[in-house]
Amino acid sequence: MNFEFTEEQRLFAHQVRRFAQEKLAPDALERAHDPRFPFEVAELMSAQGLMGITLSEPDGGQGGTLMDAIIAIEQVASACPRSADVVQFGNFGPIRTLAEYGTAAQKVRWLPELLGGRMVLSLGMSEPDAGSAVTDLKTSAKPDGSAYLINGTKVFSTFSPDATLFLVYARYGPGLGGIGSVIVERGAPGFSIGAPSSFMSGEEWCELHFENCRIPAENVLLGPGGFKKQMESFNVERLGNAARALALGRHAYDAARAHAKSREQFGRPLCEFQGLQWKFADMAIKLEAAQLLLYRAAANADRGLPSAYETAVAKAACNQTGFEVANESIQIMGALGYSRETLVEYCMRRTRGWMIAGGSIEMLKNRIAEHVFDRRFDQRKRHADAAE
Ligand SMILES: Cc1cc2nc3c(=O)[nH]c(=O)nc-3n(C[C@H](O)[C@H](O)[C@H](O)COP(=O)(O)OP(=O)(O)OC[C@H]3O[C@@H](n4cnc5c(N)ncnc54)[C@H](O)[C@@H]3O)c2cc1C
Repeated sequence: MNFEFTEEQRLFAHQVRRFAQEKLAPDALERAHDPRFPFEVAELMSAQGLMGITLSEPDGGQGGTLMDAIIAIEQVASACPRSADVVQFGNFGPIRTLAEYGTAAQKVRWLPELLGGRMVLSLGMSEPDAGSAVTDLKTSAKPDGSAYLINGTKVFSTFSPDATLFLVYARYGPGLGGIGSVIVERGAPGFSIGAPSSFMSGEEWCELHFENCRIPAENVLLGPGGFKKQMESFNVERLGNAARALALGRHAYDAARAHAKSREQFGRPLCEFQGLQWKFADMAIKLEAAQLLLYRAAANADRGLPSAYETAVAKAACNQTGFEVANESIQIMGALGYSRETLVEYCMRRTRGWMIAGGSIEMLKNRIAEHVFDRRFDQRKRHADAAE
């Protein structure tokens, strides 16, 4: 067991930090309050080799590891929290599902634009009646000659106002085995995108409506039975989500630490008050512990598929830590932390959402409990006759 970065990882972290400080830090505050996808950042990151870090070189990626991508999130977020979303998009999200399971034609058609930072892909998974119970999704994909007809509604899709492509979970038939996914392009006949709604993070998302939306059969990503593969990919997405939560918590912590050293009250710097010192000690313990859990899940995932248990433990710890630390950092900075003059309040608002997204804390704990008791706990209501 070795708790140190390798020389290569240290060098990579240093390079990304320098890039982020030079190119991203100057507009970090403005960017955090802009709801739109930062395409200019995506293009810069593409040129810097930060898109597709974990994708293979034939797919246009860098052939790196998940740990590398996590290091990139940490370093980018330390300079510009909002830009960490672009590292997520280019390395952890639906782009990986496309790279992993897409056909050669799909990859050639879309990956260069996505990895070039010129196009964004949004995930259409959640539905009005299928949130945590995602397998209740109703959006259907029915064959129609050489095409498929998509019907249904999706909600809460990140980047939806700016996306050109949508990876949509759809049902080809009943049950878990009937679920797969398709790629729908903006402008496809029968596909309409609702007006943007605002969320606590400052992001805007739109509802996606499919009414006999016709897509060519070549746009099928995963056919019936694809759900398990999608969930395996989703564990990777969860690690990116965990890394961002932790990195934003650390961004807020660093700002609070600097403030506690320079701000004086009662003729002394804030850091000399024990009441605040213990807050910092608690935050340091939480940050270090969550980081080790994240690194364990990512390092083990680099030797195979991410373990669902290790991913759940890491995400729950990082999500809670990120939010609690950002929230406490506001307290330490007083009204300045509460203002929009610093990024601390943004970090608090942003980390809050990741306690719900990509497997809520409660759903992660359900998964952890199954590991603890070494059995499955069906969350569904039992039928009266089955319970008897
Ligand atoms: C920041 C953010 C980004 C998102 N991005 C996307 C995206 O890009 N694409 C997309 O499709 N969706 C996205 N979502 C939606 C997200 O996937 C859902 O919000 C999530 O699955 C929870 O569903 P819900 O909001 O409908 O809550 P519900 O499922 O209605 O849950 C409500 C509450 O009940 C709890 N709960 C539910 N079932 C159980 C249970 N069995 N045991 C214990 N507690 C339970 C939940 O944890 C939650 O606290 C995003 C959400 C957020 C907040």
